[in-house]
Amino acid sequence: MRVPFLDLRVGDVGERDELLHAIDEVLCHGQIVLGPEVETLEKQVAQGCGRSFAVGVNSGSDALILAMRSLNFPPGSEVITTPLSFIATANAIRLNALVPVFADIGDDLNLDPASISKAITPKTRAIMVVHWAGKICPMVEITAIARERGLVLIEDASQAYGASFGDRKAGGFGHLACFSMNSMKVFASLGEAGVVVTDDSDLRDRLIALRYNGLVNREMCHYVSHNGRMDTLQAAVLLVRLRRLDSVLSARRENALYYHQHLRGLVVIPEESPQFRDVFYTYTIRSNRRDDLKQFLENRDIETKIQHPLLMPQHPAYHGSLGHYPNAERLIREVLSLPIHEKLMPDQRAWVVESVQDFFRSNA
Ligand SMILES: *Cc1c(COP(=O)(O)O)cnc(C)c1O
Repeated sequence: MRVPFLDLRVGDVGERDELLHAIDEVLCHGQIVLGPEVETLEKQVAQGCGRSFAVGVNSGSDALILAMRSLNFPPGSEVITTPLSFIATANAIRLNALVPVFADIGDDLNLDPASISKAITPKTRAIMVVHWAGKICPMVEITAIARERGLVLIEDASQAYGASFGDRKAGGFGHLACFSMNSMKVFASLGEAGVVVTDDSDLRDRLIALRYNGLVNREMCHYVSHNGRMDTLQAAVLLVRLRRLDSVLSARRENALYYHQHLRGLVVIPEESPQFRDVFYTYTIRSNRRDDLKQFLENRDIETKIQHPLLMPQHPAYHGSLGHYPNAERLIREVLSLPIHEKLMPDQRAWVVESVQDFFRSNA
């Protein structure tokens, strides 16, 4: 039995009909550039994470780049971030002539507040957290650090749309928060899309200019930027997907509970902390026999992923970066993400569990 890591087909006939209908509506009204679907989506996303404003953009990468640009920090300012993320996080800092400083992560794979405090220097202007794998960072502590030290807080919530801590949602903590809705995310378009949210109307206004070449009123360029507008067709898709998000999240959470139950004790499982509700963008286990386990599962046609084999500062373009992250260096040798997507069938996840159990039995 083949178990793919992801399945991007739309097999559900009802969903396909809704998507085709939503696209047909755009074809009929013809407002292709920043059409009404973009505005509706912005409203719903802002409301969904408890923010005043949302600005739809081209991708999660653009959300991060434009969010950093909107802050207008002096070149060379330092931004503390995690070493464990998709490289777009660090690129957004560097593309704005800012300096990423990589703090360490805890065993939950998220930024460790104590390590953030140690990384602060007179040049530090901001903290960029990443809610890794769909689990919100320890935001009580991190928000307190940002407030005490007068730092701007930005969330890369690309993997965490819909996650919560208490009654607060991912994207509800930072001065700015960024989402990716690329086709692989939990809340996914059929291509590329992203959103920035904020409560600050000045930042919102600047983001609206920044997403279209820095033009104010589409006439006068006030800031150097590029075209990062959200596609109306993708907004139409996302509105359909938003209606189905709860069922996607519960399917993923059900898969996670099943894995929790059967894999606890064999590997380190991504347990939820009290008050946290994770969305399981990935189900990332840890094992000191990770590489052998991955090979064993591959031999059984079970697709897994290592996210990521390299920490961001280990990429060639980032050699010589600032930071200290021994725990992250240890943890990325142990992480392995199992298939968790909402289309996973009960017999597929049972096969994953049985295979992990067989691995540890045969290699005991
Ligand atoms: C997906 C992702 C991005 C980039 O988003 P795109 O929409 O692919 O540009 C950035 N940061 C994190 C943590 C991501 O998972």
